Amino acid sequence: MQKKLQVEAIQDGSVIDHIPAQQGVKILRFFKFTQTNEKITIGLNLPTHNGEGKDLIKVENTFISDEQANQLALFAPDATINQIKDFKVVKKFKVQLPDFFIGVLSCPNSNCISHNEPVKARFYVNKGTELRLKCHYCEKSFSRTFFNELD
Ligand SMILES: [Zn+2]
Repeated sequence: MQKKLQVEAIQDGSVIDHIPAQQGVKILRFFKFTQTNEKITIGLNLPTHNGEGKDLIKVENTFISDEQANQLALFAPDATINQIKDFKVVKKFKVQLPDFFIGVLSCPNSNCISHNEPVKARFYVNKGTELRLKCHYCEKSFSRTFFNELD
């Protein structure tokens, strides 16, 4: 198979690959990558061998933490993260959904008490055939699309 260089190489930083098409921009917003001063390269709707297209994000001088990798799994369950030092991949791993999220997402249910109490939102991750997150406070379950629209 012919290898194509789709986006320019970076010296130091992270490359998030295998993001489903349309999710790249949401990830940029969610992680507020656009509010840093680092150089960001984003590839949208890049061709893949299965024809579905993918997005790819390169962030210079930024290393994705394990916590961020967990959160990324919400948007891109099959994403891989490459950490680059001196133009070389020093670490490569797949994102993984955690068993729960605390404090990073807010409950889509506007009547949920978590919005009025000084508590951290807490969700349990149900990794069934369709991913669902269950709120600790109102006990409602939500599919990930509810969270994709949040800032
Ligand atoms: Zn709730």
